[in-house]
Amino acid sequence: MVGIWNDFQRHVFWKIGDGKNTNFWLDNWVPNRSELLPSASQNFIDTTISVRDVLNAEGDWNLSFLSENFPTNIVNHVVALPTPIDADGPDVMGWEGTNTHQFTVQSAYRLQHGDINALEGELNSLWDWKGPHPIQTFIWLAAQERILTNFRRSKWGVGISPLCSRCGREDETTIHVLWDCAYATQVWLRLVPSRFITDFFTFHCRDWIFNNLGKRGICATTKNWKTIFMTSCWFLWTWRNKSIFENDFHQPNKPCHGDPKLY
Ligand SMILES: [Zn+2]
Repeated sequence: MVGIWNDFQRHVFWKIGDGKNTNFWLDNWVPNRSELLPSASQNFIDTTISVRDVLNAEGDWNLSFLSENFPTNIVNHVVALPTPIDADGPDVMGWEGTNTHQFTVQSAYRLQHGDINALEGELNSLWDWKGPHPIQTFIWLAAQERILTNFRRSKWGVGISPLCSRCGREDETTIHVLWDCAYATQVWLRLVPSRFITDFFTFHCRDWIFNNLGKRGICATTKNWKTIFMTSCWFLWTWRNKSIFENDFHQPNKPCHGDPKLY
């Protein structure tokens, strides 16, 4: 399944609208290329910028930025694309295997020849969820280990520590933020029914996420588990960000006793 998933990621494609929700360096948005990061000519880059951020004040591609960061052939490739504009609406995540960029099982099968039923089930379990879209997108990125943890940032930025900024004990990977860090574990220990605790913690991030969105085990016996799980992951990430960016932020003492509407 891991191989299929990696192949699958390569075919996820962002169709640019206003350019605001597509990561300039990390998302696959330039047709016929993968992400732009491997083509960078500088050592230090800001991996948080959106495609929209790479326009100048007139709304054209920022040529000096592009020339500083890429060889000429890549610059030419980018400037040949229409610039993002508000009139085109939000960016849309789609699937390269079809002309319409919609996800279809047939196109996935053509590209992968793998266990598509499992893949389809996993994706549906995520996209069928009726909660807030930002949480859905966050879980999607987390399953691909693409959230900007310190570990991920340290690979591209000079002088960035890979360590968890909260416990300082281990590299801050996706799985570390979402359950392995003591701050996260204490949340899950209160939420996960005791008979599922041993099975709950598993080291493969994508498997861990989709196991908690499916129909078996904890999901089958615990009411609204998918919502509890996705929302909790989202809060753990939000609290992590607040603890870094807001000096006076403290994670709630009773994180599981918040607004009942969220659960
Ligand atoms: Zn930690």
